Amino acid sequence: MSIDILIIGGGLIGSSVAYHLAKSGKASEIVVLEPDPTYEFATTPKGSGGVRRLFSRPENVALGSYGLEFYSTFKETMAIDGEPADISFKPQGYLFLSDGGDSSQMRSNYETQTANGVGAELLEQGDLKKRFPSVNFDDVEIGVLTPDDAWIDPHAAMMGFRRMARHLGVEYRKDRVVDWQGDGAAARHVTLESGQTISANTFVLAAGAWSGEIAAMLDWDVPIRPMSRQTHYFLCMAEIEPLPFLKSETDLAFRPEGAGFTGGKPDWSVGPGFNWNYAPDWFENEVWPALAHRVPALEEIRLERTWACHYERNELDKNAIIGRWDGGMENVYIASGFSGHGIMQAPGAGCALSELILDGAYSTMDVTRLGYDRVANNEPYPELGIV
Ligand SMILES: Cc1cc2nc3c(=O)[nH]c(=O)nc-3n(C[C@H](O)[C@H](O)[C@H](O)COP(=O)(O)OP(=O)(O)OC[C@H]3O[C@@H](n4cnc5c(N)ncnc54)[C@H](O)[C@@H]3O)c2cc1C
Repeated sequence: MSIDILIIGGGLIGSSVAYHLAKSGKASEIVVLEPDPTYEFATTPKGSGGVRRLFSRPENVALGSYGLEFYSTFKETMAIDGEPADISFKPQGYLFLSDGGDSSQMRSNYETQTANGVGAELLEQGDLKKRFPSVNFDDVEIGVLTPDDAWIDPHAAMMGFRRMARHLGVEYRKDRVVDWQGDGAAARHVTLESGQTISANTFVLAAGAWSGEIAAMLDWDVPIRPMSRQTHYFLCMAEIEPLPFLKSETDLAFRPEGAGFTGGKPDWSVGPGFNWNYAPDWFENEVWPALAHRVPALEEIRLERTWACHYERNELDKNAIIGRWDGGMENVYIASGFSGHGIMQAPGAGCALSELILDGAYSTMDVTRLGYDRVANNEPYPELGIV
């Protein structure tokens, strides 16, 4: 089989790329390879769904802004035959807290955010206490609030992109890439678990936590590794005012979800690799005390559920890799390694990459700094402050 564009991985990122390519009307014969239509092991359905613009790098602010705008009308724009694509868009805000003892980075990031059009508010400790009386801010110097930021149901967004991409003519094929061959100048074809091969003019690698191992099939060095994380869902009986998505310099992150809350704290002692187990005492010893410290009413909670899933972490700098394999096989593109930002960045990444593939240049937003060049040249471009 020979086609025009082959996308490896049909999660949120691959599906957004497929949708944007198909929507342009300039591409034909697009196939997405996705081995697991239930997405049991994919990262997307298990992510927290946060959509924010609180970043230090202008490219990440731009991707977040595009994502927020896109998701705010997703229900209508991705409707098919009058059937809405509801992603439970909740614009309940984000609040970053400086509790690490030095607020200078957060203050400087705030300047970048407002200069890039983000409606952020810098709140001193006294203002924070008035705004959110349930929260303990005694160890917090400042907070930065974006009241219009949001969270969504990431599984619904992925299915919305997938449904619309198929509606526009994209084929989703249930199969897994087991080998990828090129001739030095260009990639030529992939071999699938089913034994078939597919040749393509253009390849897009969007396989999340599996991207590093798939790139290695082409002898392409892509430093994306799975990084196991555990997340919790818990209920609290006490009345708490509606909270935004809280994220602090000391790593605690949580937000309201239905009748309870969801969130956690990373265990930095866990090394890279697929690991579906979670440490049963991590919540009790690390997460719960941190929650109760930040919101005293969370001293009394009921843990309902814990699950493990994986960041697709770019080991170079924990930022996405979006672009073409310049200096390598130049018909190969990548959108992966989002390291905890792939839900909010999926619409923008799909839009940008489709422009690069079809027009040879970015027009909606310039994400050149997030390209593969920085990996090849070992020039990290990390977020500054909260990642
Ligand atoms: C705990 C946690 C919380 C998060 N919270 C947020 C958040 O609040 N906001 C945010 O923006 N981001 C968040 N993220 C990050 C976000 O979830 C990811 O960046 C995003 O879902 C990645 O999407 P993806 O399509 O690249 O990967 P996936 O959803 O994993 O999709 C990759 C697909 O590739 C397929 N695949 C694998 N191997 C092959 C192969 N050999 N051939 C073909 N296909 C293959 C897989 O089956 C899979 O479906 C969070 C992540 C975690 C772990």
